[in-house]
Amino acid sequence: MTVDAATTPNPFAGYGEDAALDLDLESPAVAAQVVKRLLSPDFEDFSDQLTRVGFCANPIHLTGSSTTLDAATGEVLSTYCSDQEPGGSTLVRCGNRRASECPSCSRIYAADMFHLIRAGVAGGKGVPDTISENPLVFATLTAPSFGHVHGTRDNHRRCRPRAKNPRCPHGRPATCMAFHDDEDPQLGHPLCWECYDYASHVVWQWWAPELWRRFTIALRRALAQHLAVRETKLNTRASLQYAKVGEYQRRGLIHFHALIRLDGPKVDGAFGPAPADVDADKLSDLIRDAAASVRFTAPPMFAGDSERVLALGAQVDARHVRTGHRTDDPGKPLAPEQVAGYLAKYSTKSASDTTDQGNAHLHRIKTVADEFARAVEDEWNHAGRPVELRDWPYGLLGKWVHDLGFRGHFASKSRRYSVTLGQLRRARRRAQLLLADAQRRGEPVDLASMEAQLLADDDAETTLIVGSWSFAGIGWDTPGDVALAKAAAARAREHAQDKAAKKRVSKPD
Ligand SMILES: [Zn+2]
Ligand SMILES: [Zn+2]
Ligand SMILES: [Zn+2]
Repeated sequence: MTVDAATTPNPFAGYGEDAALDLDLESPAVAAQVVKRLLSPDFEDFSDQLTRVGFCANPIHLTGSSTTLDAATGEVLSTYCSDQEPGGSTLVRCGNRRASECPSCSRIYAADMFHLIRAGVAGGKGVPDTISENPLVFATLTAPSFGHVHGTRDNHRRCRPRAKNPRCPHGRPATCMAFHDDEDPQLGHPLCWECYDYASHVVWQWWAPELWRRFTIALRRALAQHLAVRETKLNTRASLQYAKVGEYQRRGLIHFHALIRLDGPKVDGAFGPAPADVDADKLSDLIRDAAASVRFTAPPMFAGDSERVLALGAQVDARHVRTGHRTDDPGKPLAPEQVAGYLAKYSTKSASDTTDQGNAHLHRIKTVADEFARAVEDEWNHAGRPVELRDWPYGLLGKWVHDLGFRGHFASKSRRYSVTLGQLRRARRRAQLLLADAQRRGEPVDLASMEAQLLADDDAETTLIVGSWSFAGIGWDTPGDVALAKAAAARAREHAQDKAAKKRVSKPD
């Protein structure tokens, strides 16, 4: 394991009066902890640790040592031991993707996602830029309706106007004459919570990953049919690559945003030119048809419940990012930076960003999911535990209640979409080593050959790190320390944004 080098300036150094830390102090006790920390004699040590771990809100503590060797000669280049650190342990980033858990680590995750997705759109990071000539579609697959909910409508129309003010069987209005704006807390809430089908909502969310899987199979089948080849021979003509990210809608249902690229048959393992007879418009049509065809019969949750035939929502948005090299892009295609930016941003969101305490609808989803989870476990117990709980159809529902019953991956990609997160992480670690090495030798960094070195495979490493580490704990000492870490992370972010804004001013695009 390698420790992040310090790359960020100390956030507590050199404050002017206009640069106070924006602390989120949830209670007087936390405020007292912050004051105690700021006045403590070891504040410098704390501040150092915080800086080195990049203001991670929940760092992992490790104890142990490592030795860096020259891979060719075996010469010892440096040694490092956690004893050197304040408190006797080395802190490393938690690496959490959720912005609500760790603002700092989630930003790194988002930046890596951005580069991963962008490389699959425009090339770079070892992906040839010829892929930028293949058709590419940005598709959003939604959930179906489980009851009327308040929403914003296109063209400033009313939420749900109906003649004669009908009421639902529970006596509540089945109409809503409001024009909701984006900030309206009512958005996503059912018109009547008793009419809303929470049970089917939870079941759908549980099987959403299965619906996505079936969609990818249906799309391959549709493409093979269009190209008049057998499905098993599809890879002789074309290959579909995608990157997808899940996002919670206001009504608490996940939907999938996906970039879907059509490549030709693999040349040397990857990225051939797309077949000439499928452009992005055709690909969009195939995506819509495939999404509309997806069905899955979900088993009953427990005795007395019924089967449900699940589908994706009828609204499938499929827009081309570009049509490919054969035609000029008609209309207004999305820019690569735009789509990469969307997906990177969605990838750091979590259910808790939507489930703020006051949201009665989301609270109800959790309550229902929780009740079902208990009923499912009861039944498993009564059945004499015939299989492991995880192999029981809804056995692990209880584990995913906080994610509103969604158990899938928030972000995933096909193998040949672009580079991997692992490659990008390794590259960042190497960049830090290269910079440190250049500094030590007093030589400039060779930027020309840097990217290739950074993205090279593991066996091309010139140094070898041998270490032995064990887990010694997680997190800062007090909620006050966490508040300081989050405030410092926010400040570092503002600093980076200021710098980026200044750059933009001097280099208009
Ligand atoms: Zn973190
Ligand atoms: Zn409404
Ligand atoms: Zn009702």
